Amino acid sequence: MIPISIISFVNKHCKSNPDEEPNKLKKRLKEAVNDKENGVICFKCDQEIWAIGSAVANQGCFSCITGEAGASEDYEIDEVCWS
Ligand SMILES: [Zn+2]
Repeated sequence: MIPISIISFVNKHCKSNPDEEPNKLKKRLKEAVNDKENGVICFKCDQEIWAIGSAVANQGCFSCITGEAGASEDYEIDEVCWS
């Protein structure tokens, strides 16, 4: 995945989603990062969660949230971007 900092993702996401509250999104991202660091797993399978997807959608891994297998062109928060 492509590493991105929380603040850069918030700016990017809020530009394309003007209804999103930047502070709330930032808070959800921080929670998702904490969850991932604490080893929280996907709601559907037993993979590690995708922090960005967990902040904007369900607490799940990339494949279960998006239905796609490849995540190489998608973003993940830099501090939990392990693969
Ligand atoms: Zn999953």
